[in-house]
Amino acid sequence: MSAAHSFEAVFGRPATIFERAPGRVNLIGEHTDYSGGFVLPMAIPLHTEVELAPRRDGMARVGSLDVPGAARSTFVLGCEHRTRGWLDYVQGVTAALRADGFSIRGFDARFRSTIPVGAGLSSSAALAVALLRALRLAFSLRLDDVAIARLAQAAETDFVGAPVGIMDPMASSLGRDDEALFLDTRSLHFERVALPRTLELLVLDSGVKHQHAGGGYRARRAEVEQAAQRLGVALLRDVGPERLGDVAELPPPLDRRARHVITENQRVLDAVRALRAADEAALGALFAASHASMRDDFEVSVPEVDRIVASAAADPDVVAARLTGGGFGGAVVVLARAGHGRAAARRVADAAGSDVRVVLPAPSAKE
Ligand code: ADP
Ligand code: MG
Repeated sequence: MSAAHSFEAVFGRPATIFERAPGRVNLIGEHTDYSGGFVLPMAIPLHTEVELAPRRDGMARVGSLDVPGAARSTFVLGCEHRTRGWLDYVQGVTAALRADGFSIRGFDARFRSTIPVGAGLSSSAALAVALLRALRLAFSLRLDDVAIARLAQAAETDFVGAPVGIMDPMASSLGRDDEALFLDTRSLHFERVALPRTLELLVLDSGVKHQHAGGGYRARRAEVEQAAQRLGVALLRDVGPERLGDVAELPPPLDRRARHVITENQRVLDAVRALRAADEAALGALFAASHASMRDDFEVSVPEVDRIVASAAADPDVVAARLTGGGFGGAVVVLARAGHGRAAARRVADAAGSDVRVVLPAPSAKE
């Protein structure tokens, strides 16, 4: 980075606080979190970093190196207002802190990220969690990591207006390298599940952009709520596989939507067992069934993503592959044989098409 773009050049003084938070990839358990169900996300070794310097007044000056034209924007704490741009993610955090009774002063902050933005790897939660960590330090806020996740979710839900679940901020706030977070999104009880040493995590970005605040995600949430109502439960979490007969009686597409959520919850439980047993065949079958369910029952895949998953399934060093994240484009998560991941990712991306990008393993310095 050139000196002209340094924090000091932009804000006239050096940053004193440096924090970061990871992106995440969900191994399995998609569109289950807003039904209070199970998810199995994993932090990825890509991060959003924030440099921050506290101020004495109530002004926030913030910039991002990842958004064109976002060198420096200003807002006054307590007077946050929606701009429908990236600044809302920052204002959402300060508004959520205030709503929870935390008092902070102003700050200068700047973000940079290695997480591809809008690819379903949760750059939005990473930004919020990184900022909350920095503000916790700057203003000695009494916040544990779960409280940070809840505030990050509130920032996005209440201020940005994207009705996201708790999975992304929990994964970013609590996730660790090489360990998945088996999370009950209703109780927030979690267990850490190590990735077997025989396996390596790959992520491929389809290049097709999703828009969470947009129509598809909202429509699915509404359908899931309607299905729960018709089945007489508050959340689909409370409907087990034994009621799939009742689910089949729902009017389409509610029958398919509910079937996805109910079978997906069961697949998360099965995948936790398979990971702990390093059972590659079971993981392959569970990922394949999850992908088919998202494609056919929940209808959130796109042809570009289906092509990547198909080309992964045909690769000799791939154990399991599926669409990850909310869908409508986004990324594919792959479990490959350890030590063969980089070559397998390259083959899969080449076979699937020109817009496909290997996100993990991150390019090595010599590439
Ligand atoms: P995802 O979380 O899957 O990457 P979202 O649509 O939820 O996608 O969030 C992406 C949005 O978050 C961006 O459009 C931008 O407004 C904001 N954002 C994320 N990371 C950054 C960053 N490093 N700098 C500025 N804005 C960011
Ligand atoms: Mg997001």
